[in-house]
Amino acid sequence: MMDIDLTPKSSPELRRTIEAFKELDAQWIDIKSLRLWLETCDKEHGSRCQRVLTRESTIETLPQYLVDIQRKCLKLAKEDDRYAALSYVWGGATTTLTSTSNLALLREPGSLFSSQVTLPKTIKYTIGLLERLDIPYLWLDALCIVQDDNATKQRQIHAMAWIYANAYITIIAADGDSADHGLWGIRGVTDPRHLDDDTVSAIYTSLKNHSPGWYSRGWTFQELTFSRRRTMFHNQVALWECPCASWTECRLDSIFKILRWPVQLHYSMWPNMKNYLNAVKGYNTRQFTFPQDALGAVVGLHVVRGHAFDGGFITGLPQMFFHESLLWQPEDTLKRRVSTVGPSDSSPLPSWSWVGWEGAIDIQRWTMHLSHVRFFHPSADVYAYQVTPTVKWFYSNPGEDITPIHASSLKYRPQPGSDRSLPPGSQLANTKHTMYEFFGLEETRAAYPLPLLCPPGDIVSASLLHSETKRGFFQADRHEWPSSRGTLCDEVFLLDKEGERMGMLRLNSKSGSKIRIEQDLWFELVEIAGGEIQDPGWIST
Ligand SMILES: [Zn+2]
Repeated sequence: MMDIDLTPKSSPELRRTIEAFKELDAQWIDIKSLRLWLETCDKEHGSRCQRVLTRESTIETLPQYLVDIQRKCLKLAKEDDRYAALSYVWGGATTTLTSTSNLALLREPGSLFSSQVTLPKTIKYTIGLLERLDIPYLWLDALCIVQDDNATKQRQIHAMAWIYANAYITIIAADGDSADHGLWGIRGVTDPRHLDDDTVSAIYTSLKNHSPGWYSRGWTFQELTFSRRRTMFHNQVALWECPCASWTECRLDSIFKILRWPVQLHYSMWPNMKNYLNAVKGYNTRQFTFPQDALGAVVGLHVVRGHAFDGGFITGLPQMFFHESLLWQPEDTLKRRVSTVGPSDSSPLPSWSWVGWEGAIDIQRWTMHLSHVRFFHPSADVYAYQVTPTVKWFYSNPGEDITPIHASSLKYRPQPGSDRSLPPGSQLANTKHTMYEFFGLEETRAAYPLPLLCPPGDIVSASLLHSETKRGFFQADRHEWPSSRGTLCDEVFLLDKEGERMGMLRLNSKSGSKIRIEQDLWFELVEIAGGEIQDPGWIST
């Protein structure tokens, strides 16, 4: 069915991919495989793959409405309903949204496929697919949230982490740019797929590059973080992923391995600082034609979207971790970004944010300052750094009133002797050191639980930072340089006026190009935070 030129340059992986895909039906996905994946996971994978079935009395954790697959209408959800959740790109497709005015209609049997209702192909075909898989209910945002009932809508949006965590399975329609694209290759439901050599090359390329368009597009994928089991329809091929297995329609080891990467999703309902820092590191070595676009780029980062970071971002720094975030450090010599528009005092690229500098940021040292992240060091067991706020911060732009900054993560830090009641969905992780995680998901592991799903915060661009603080003057020790400890930037020891060593200063200069320190040169430093290395015991007990 496929005729591909295997040139001598073709890699063994491409050869194996082509061979494996040749076994597939070019037109139809094997529904028996999909059923087998579900059954195998149900029977053999145990509790790791089971849905959470969170029943919190104080908050909403279940859908309000579900699509009844057999009766083709909406119904009020019951606690034990077995439902699939749909993840898809809406992309502006024409679709009926549930509202208070059409709710009665949509609850009538058959209404979803009636002439009064418009559903895009992806939704229609998913309903057909679930019928084939004997999954009785479907949840999707457009139909199952009453869009103009604001109070309920807010509660349901906040329940989304649990709605996905409690789903029997998540169906991911990964192909196409809109919900009009549909699924292909489901016999009796959709058009046939076209698995030809071009498609297989595309599959191979996207797997090989670890960057299928599906993951790199700017759409909301936060729901995936909490989906236990997923069936994806990608490049017209069906894939499976659960905590115990990754399967494709063709069993191919190299593809299985590559497919493990989707767990490192950029989207989260949990404020994942590691994702944020990795994104910053990746972004900040980029050059922009217009330097001020650096801020636009971070605003566009997947990681800053959604509901995870309480209070949003101030000039690229997450407000909820503001005191720790100000402690970013260069890894290599940074170059100042200068805006090409506007006067310099209203530059959107201030020096206090990494946004104002181009070059590599040292995310390891930055991570060390985050008190909820356990930092493991090869020569020690575990460090627990605590950054203590010593000043109150405000931001503004020239001529504007100042606005206080609320670093809300501080309120979640455990205090010695305080009652440690866990937020819903959080549990103790099975780790050597005391860690918490949401729904048993490793990527949410932290020394203490942070909240899930905060109201979406603003993305603020501020050029000025205000605080009342202290300053001190220190002299550099010109006779002794700290060892570089593998870093690229120079460091100098700082002395007080008696010549006592008081600390160390990291310079924005490359190793080996030691800055010439003039005699009697004094550095003026201002205090921005306190910090200490704690005995980790007080967090663990
Ligand atoms: Zn499983």
